Amino acid sequence: MNSIDAARQYFETAADQLGLSRAVRTLLLTPQREVKVQIAIPRDNGEIATFVGYRVQHDRSRGPMKGGLRYHPEVDGDEVTTLAQLMTWKTAVVDLPYGGAKGGIGVDPKSLSPAELERVTRCFIDQIHEMIGPNLDIPAPDMGTNAQVMAWAVNQYEKYHGFSPAVITGKPLELHGSAGREEATGRGVAIITRATCDALGRSLSGARVGVQGFGNVGLHTALFLAEMGARVTAVSDVTGGVWHPAGLDVAELSQWARQSGSVVGFAGASPLTNQELLTSDVDVLIPAALGGVLTPAIAGDVRAGIVIEAANAPTLPEADEVLHQRGVVVVPDILANAGGVTVSYFEWVQNLQQFRWDLTRIRAELERIMTRAFDEVWALAQSKQVSLRTAAYMIGIGRVAKATQLAGY
Ligand code: GLU
Repeated sequence: MNSIDAARQYFETAADQLGLSRAVRTLLLTPQREVKVQIAIPRDNGEIATFVGYRVQHDRSRGPMKGGLRYHPEVDGDEVTTLAQLMTWKTAVVDLPYGGAKGGIGVDPKSLSPAELERVTRCFIDQIHEMIGPNLDIPAPDMGTNAQVMAWAVNQYEKYHGFSPAVITGKPLELHGSAGREEATGRGVAIITRATCDALGRSLSGARVGVQGFGNVGLHTALFLAEMGARVTAVSDVTGGVWHPAGLDVAELSQWARQSGSVVGFAGASPLTNQELLTSDVDVLIPAALGGVLTPAIAGDVRAGIVIEAANAPTLPEADEVLHQRGVVVVPDILANAGGVTVSYFEWVQNLQQFRWDLTRIRAELERIMTRAFDEVWALAQSKQVSLRTAAYMIGIGRVAKATQLAGY
């Protein structure tokens, strides 16, 4: 099953609950626009390199379209289309005034020099600058991109359109970025984890947490959960993982990973593989890396009682069913990782108003939005006796359907 089919299945389950007609379903599923472009750059050695770039604008009924730019060798049109659709439901679940979009380039950013990465980014913006804009479509970081890439992107856009910081979010602070944007997705995941424990009457304090992925999202998730009193007992990255039953010192682990390039070999911890992390003896499992990691085979062996989806689309539908049958509570990506796009929204608002918010205000507003969204999803799941995923999709899809219907065709 590819990612399109998986997203489709979750959509159909929620659409059945909402009683949407086939015609409305087709309307909601069909992207507004899909663009595929060639990116050709000279490499530092003078040779020419070509890559394929995508921008998919899924839905704009609730506002300008919003979503990240992913640089990863496995990026393809299907994946970007799926992720664009997820952005539409995600912005709607947390009730931001946005639609959904996603972009990406099929490239391994680690295989490029900084100068090559800059040329790739500028060339991509050259190809798509007419279809993005502060009131149209607002890119942001995603896997393989960061604030520096956003700085090049906004600079290239401004060569055509003049000063427009609100066209891109996730920018460096020095270039109209926002306080708290980098930590936002992880902080949101931690807030949702705490809310889930509270709702289930379980204590987060002392709970054992396993985090797969130690990039921006995994790192900040682990840091904030440790701060909230959880024991982060297992962490992995692409090269492997480490665990310690008493809990890892996340700040020290982060320093070690920065120096050595990986969490592997962290002093005092035992090694474990990425696969072992998913089935390790923890209370809360947080996939925070690639999609599709929770397969039906693995789902039967997951020992955590709670799964918080910090990554986009980490759980395949059959695995979701297995987890549901086994009583494992799964908080879906479109709710759990919405903290990133929420602080992107704050950045955009600050850019439009040319008025800065401090970190205290950002954190308080993030907490308010994430908690309200969690409470709404939880309440609907209880009242309709459906999973949190179906409830989140019902709220997201329901809001988009309503806006589409009110506006007329
Ligand atoms: N890439 C992030 C996501 O998948 C953030 C998107 C944004 O800030 O627009 O939610």
